[in-house]
Amino acid sequence: MLIKTILNRIQKHASFVYGTVRLIETLGSLAIEVEIEPRANSRPRCSGCNRRRPGYDTLKPRRFAFVPHWGIKVFFVYGLRRVNCIACGGILVERVPWAEGKSPLTKTYAWFLAKWAKRMSWEEVARAFRTSWDSVFRSVEMAVLWGREHMDLEGIKAIGIDEVQWQRGHKYLTLAYQIDAHCKRLLWIGKERRVKTLMSFFRWLGRERTAAIQFVCSDMWRPYLKVIAKKAGQAIHVLDRFHVMSHFNKAIDKVRASEARALKAKGHKPILKHSRWLLLKRPENLTPKQEVGLALILRHNLRSVRSYLLREDFQGFWDYVSPSWAGKFLDRWCTRALRSRIDPIKRVARMLRRHRALLLNWFRAKGQISAGAVEGLNLKVKLTTRKAFGFRTYRAIEIALYHTLGALPEPKTTHEFC
Ligand SMILES: [Zn+2]
Repeated sequence: MLIKTILNRIQKHASFVYGTVRLIETLGSLAIEVEIEPRANSRPRCSGCNRRRPGYDTLKPRRFAFVPHWGIKVFFVYGLRRVNCIACGGILVERVPWAEGKSPLTKTYAWFLAKWAKRMSWEEVARAFRTSWDSVFRSVEMAVLWGREHMDLEGIKAIGIDEVQWQRGHKYLTLAYQIDAHCKRLLWIGKERRVKTLMSFFRWLGRERTAAIQFVCSDMWRPYLKVIAKKAGQAIHVLDRFHVMSHFNKAIDKVRASEARALKAKGHKPILKHSRWLLLKRPENLTPKQEVGLALILRHNLRSVRSYLLREDFQGFWDYVSPSWAGKFLDRWCTRALRSRIDPIKRVARMLRRHRALLLNWFRAKGQISAGAVEGLNLKVKLTTRKAFGFRTYRAIEIALYHTLGALPEPKTTHEFC
C-alpha cells in the first residue's frame, strides 16, 4: 500500500519496519492503522539505560496516534517488548524511537500539535485535529521542555525585567526577557514578584552569564531594584520608558475617576464620560472622533486635564540626548508637578525624584538597547494570558508563555509536517 511507501520516505526507524496497513471504521469514523514490527533479530533497547538487552516478553499491541491524513486519524500499532536488564536490575519496557514513555501520541504528532499551537489557541488546535485539550497541552509541554533544554544562552547582554498580572486578586508573574537587538525573547518566568522570585532568575542564569550583562531594564518595583543592584551591579540599570509612563497612566486614571464622581455628585454635565481612553492614549494614536472629544475636554480647567497635560509635557524628557539636560528638565518638571495639588500626580513626581539616577541612566544606555522591546514583549504576554486558552493553572500559563515567546529551538527532522 502507498501509505507504507510514504512513511518509509518521511519517517524511517532503523530497527523497525512498517507492516500491514488497515482502514478501519468505528462508530462512523475512519482510522488508518499501521502495524509496526521489529526488524528480524533486532534486540530491544532498555528504556532505563538505552542499551540493547535480551527480550523478556511482548505486551499487548498499543495504539500511538500519528499525524492525521485526509482528515482520517492515523495510528501506529505496536506491542512493546519488555527486556531483562541487568544494569537496571529487573524487567523494563523497551524504548521505541517514535514515542516517549507512556504517551499515547507519537513524538511526530506531538510536535505537529505543538507547532499549530503557536498559530492558534490550544482549544482550536484540539478541535481542528479532533484531539483533546490535554493532548495539545502535553504536546506543547513536551516541545517547551525540549526547547528549554536545548536553548542557547550565550551572548546575552541586555535583559528586561517585567511583571504581569495573570489572575484576579493581585497574582503576578515575574518575567525576564532578553532584549538584545539580535535576539528578543522570554528567558524565564517566576511566580509572584518578590525578592525571592528574581533571585531565582539570576540563580537560573548562572554567575558567569549574569556578570556578562551590560544593561538591565526594569520597573521601579522595589524588590526588583534591590535584587538587580545586588546581582547585576556591573550593568547599567535603566528604568524604561514604557514602565515609567505606565505609572502616569495609572495616576491619570485615578484622577479622572474620582473627578468624574465628584462632578456627578455636584450635578454637573458629565464632561468626563467616555473620556478614559482619550486621556490615556497618546494624542497621535487617537481617531479623528476621539481628537474632537479630547479637544472638548481640554477646554475645561479640570484636574484630569491638568494631569494629562503634565504627562504630555513629561514625554519631552525622553527626547533629550544629554543626561545632564534631561536631569534639569526632570527637576523642573517635578517642581511643577509637586505644586499641582493633584495627589496621584504628586506621588508620581516624588517617585521619579527618588529614582533620578536610574532614570538618567536611560540616556547613558541610549541606542544600545532597543527601547520598545520590553513593551512589545509585555503586549504579547498579555495577549497570550488573555486568550481563552482555558488557563487555570500556573503550569499551563508558564508553558504557553515559553512556547509563544521563548523563541525555543526545535529538533531537526527529515520531513516538515506543517
Ligand atoms: Zn537498562
